[in-house]
Amino acid sequence: MRAIFIAVGSELLDRDRIDTNSLYVAKKLREKGILIDMKISVCDNLENLSWIVKNAYKRAQLLIITGGLGPTEDDLTRESVANALKKDLLFKESIVDEIRETFLKRGIRRMPEINKRQAFVIEGAEVLTNNIGTAPGLYIDDEICKVLLLPGPPIEMIPMFDKVFEEKIAPLSNFFIYTKSLKFSGITESETDSKIAEIYAKYKNPRTTILAAPGLIEVHLIGRSKKSIDEAQTLTDELAEKIKERMKDYILTEKDISFEELIVNELRSRQITLSVAESCTGGAFGNRITNIPGSSEIFLGGIIAYSNELKAKMLEVKEETLKKYGAVSKETAKEMAQGIRKKSGSDIGISITGIAGPGGATKGKPVGLVFMHLNSEKEDRGIYKIFPNNRNIVKTGAVNYSLNLIKKYLDDK
Ligand code: ATP
Repeated sequence: MRAIFIAVGSELLDRDRIDTNSLYVAKKLREKGILIDMKISVCDNLENLSWIVKNAYKRAQLLIITGGLGPTEDDLTRESVANALKKDLLFKESIVDEIRETFLKRGIRRMPEINKRQAFVIEGAEVLTNNIGTAPGLYIDDEICKVLLLPGPPIEMIPMFDKVFEEKIAPLSNFFIYTKSLKFSGITESETDSKIAEIYAKYKNPRTTILAAPGLIEVHLIGRSKKSIDEAQTLTDELAEKIKERMKDYILTEKDISFEELIVNELRSRQITLSVAESCTGGAFGNRITNIPGSSEIFLGGIIAYSNELKAKMLEVKEETLKKYGAVSKETAKEMAQGIRKKSGSDIGISITGIAGPGGATKGKPVGLVFMHLNSEKEDRGIYKIFPNNRNIVKTGAVNYSLNLIKKYLDDK
């Protein structure tokens, strides 16, 4: 079933609001094997909206539209859908009574005249009661395409959608769905794609999506079957196994947990303690680790040593090292990791030092260059990486690559 979602509202195209209704709807639809093919946000303009609805109606079997059902001049969804489907708008007195009731419940005796606009119903549509606000929803059980109009505010949209989903939409689907999410690290998005594209391209089902964050790649697989959930799982597992085999050097987990949770769990199960010396990440590593409940069992703490003075004073990085190699160097990173392990008494010490930008580059040391180091009683291992020139990317990437340093250390142990 091809589903299209339209979010109506000029505010959704500006900088302050985002469409979250589609996320809720997508999650529910997916439970029944219905995937959204297209998602469109449109401003409150009759011409644009009618054009979008007309085209979406031609392509979709299920069209869900939220927003623009209010009483004001810029609430144009009813009109646009009526135009696109070439149907009339009929005035229903019974809806006016219901809206009047809603106002009375709020202690307002006189319903504003403009709310009468909400009593227009598209010919042939079923009216969906709104128990919270005044805008009724509409459901059009068209042979070509089922059309669902829902109010914009999530608090009104969600209960109305839940009801219509159970009663009308879920029974339309004859698909079973099985999803799997594989996580990888130490590899970029384009490297991942060049490794696995020839594998997943052969499969229309499951559908494959690659999601990339700096230092962390997720491959999402969605398998569908008309027969059974077992068949959907078999198809998904078959593709997952092939991808895992090709990406075996980079696999993190196929569980639905974060990178830091994976590391904390692993350290806890092996009773290995950790501490960190952070420079350019400014505490981001410690923050990610301490977001995980139970991290106190293994995380002793850390030092944010941003300045050279603090690197020397708190972590015992030698003046000579800082002078000769600079604060952003593998030598300094090594001494920082050794220093924090010594000070804290942890089993492993991690350090991160780099140039987050936009300034700070020197000859041979570009913005985005970060050195990460792990020190344990028996070994030292360090890596460096040049991230794109964006402070957030540098910080997130540095934390992910440092977590990967721990992962590799644990794998080799
Ligand atoms: P009403 O006028 O009865 O509130 P409506 O259907 O006209 O309902 P809109 O006026 O379009 O709804 O939206 C009202 C508010 O609902 C918006 O300001 C926004 O905060 C929220 N909203 C609308 N659409 C969405 C969406 N797709 N995702 C999240 N919030 C939304």
